[in-house]
Amino acid sequence: MERRAYAIQAEHLVKVYGQGRTRVEVLKGVNLAMRGGELWALMGPSGSGKTTLLTILGLVTEPTQGRLCIDGEDIYGGKRPDLARLRREKTGFVFQSPNLIPFLTAQENVLLPLSLIGARRQAARARVMQLLESLEVAERADLYPNQLSGGEKQRIAIARALANSPKLIMADEPTASLDAGRALGVMHLLRQAARKHDTAVLVVTHDHRLLGEVDHVTRIMDGRIVDVPDAPPTPDHRRLATASAGRPGGRPARS
Ligand code: ADP
Ligand code: MG
Repeated sequence: MERRAYAIQAEHLVKVYGQGRTRVEVLKGVNLAMRGGELWALMGPSGSGKTTLLTILGLVTEPTQGRLCIDGEDIYGGKRPDLARLRREKTGFVFQSPNLIPFLTAQENVLLPLSLIGARRQAARARVMQLLESLEVAERADLYPNQLSGGEKQRIAIARALANSPKLIMADEPTASLDAGRALGVMHLLRQAARKHDTAVLVVTHDHRLLGEVDHVTRIMDGRIVDVPDAPPTPDHRRLATASAGRPGGRPARS
């Protein structure tokens, strides 16, 4: 099978807030690499650094240290990056609350990121309708957010995140306010979106029932990624785990 390129590679990301007595090291050397088409879950207790990591990967926050490549581009490797532009072109966000603009229709909400990157109006409209169709909300295109259900709004928010064909989508607890059925539906849509648009999608979730949809689960504890094997532990796995205990970086490189 053809190997997809890395959409994102993060090496030793460190994030420190404050200084002196208020100094907190929120991320303590995070490494991860995701390929286009992959859906990953990010799990971890409250305060462990999930949102901080997402905002760094999504180019909203600058890391204190470390290397970040998106779509092969070393973001902080050269001269000062134009983060606002890179963010508009390369990343998309889905939040717990859909955050749609109330005075724009569903269609106009999805169109907005395309307007920001100066897409041609006709091509942009066609893309928006195609996205709304693929998320099965095309018939809601002309409605305003207050006329949509929670699940529909979240679909529109996913369409908006996909609008600029980003290499990377961050979703911060997008299913937290949905019932179990709708939550699974949204996770399934994110998986389809990843596959279909060759985008890497990283989703923060606390819901173990949704993990069947994801390609990989990564866990963060106190600012560090902790190793979790993809397969459920078998006696052999446990012996391996014991043998490799203490080895830094635990998880073997993905081949
Ligand atoms: P999570 O999303 O896993 O709950 P966060 O990334 O939001 O965790 O926060 C991790 C830690 O970083 C928390 O202790 C939080 O208080 C701290 N933190 C987050 N943002 C800031 C900030 N802008 N200034 C200072 N501390 C922050
Ligand atoms: Mg958070």
